[in-house]
Amino acid sequence: MTQAAYDSVRAHSEETYPYECCGALVGKSTPQGWRVTGAMRAGNTRTDSAHNRYSIAPLELVRIEREARRQGLDIAGFYHSHPDHPAQWSGTDFAEAHWLGCSYVITEVAQGKAIVTNSFLLTGLTEEEKHFVQEQILLED
Ligand SMILES: [Zn+2]
Repeated sequence: MTQAAYDSVRAHSEETYPYECCGALVGKSTPQGWRVTGAMRAGNTRTDSAHNRYSIAPLELVRIEREARRQGLDIAGFYHSHPDHPAQWSGTDFAEAHWLGCSYVITEVAQGKAIVTNSFLLTGLTEEEKHFVQEQILLED
C-alpha cells in the first residue's frame, strides 16, 4: 500500500469521527497480494446508525469502479473506521462482505485520532466458505 493511500484512509477516518467513514481501495493484483495505490472516498449511506455501520451506495460503487478502470486499476478492497472500537471485523462486517479476494481495511479511531489500521483478506471461493484472514500492511512511497 502506498503511504499516500494509507494516510488518506486514516485522515478520512479522523474527519468523520465519531461516525464511520468508508471508501474503496484501488490498485493492482500481485503475487504478494494487492498493491493498493489509491483510496476513493465514499459517503456513508447508513445514516440510521453511522457510528457502527457503513454502506456504499450502488451508484457510488459504479462511479468508483469506472474511475478505477479509467486509471487501469481494479477494486482491491474497501475500508471503514471503527470509532472507539478495536480495528477488528464485526459480525456485520463479515456478513456484509461479499467481494471474495478483496481486502477489508479497518481503522480504530479513539477520541478522534486514528490508532490501529488492520487489513483482512476475504478468502474462499464461495459465499458459504468465505472467511477473513488478517494480512500485513506493507507501506511503500
Ligand atoms: Zn466495521
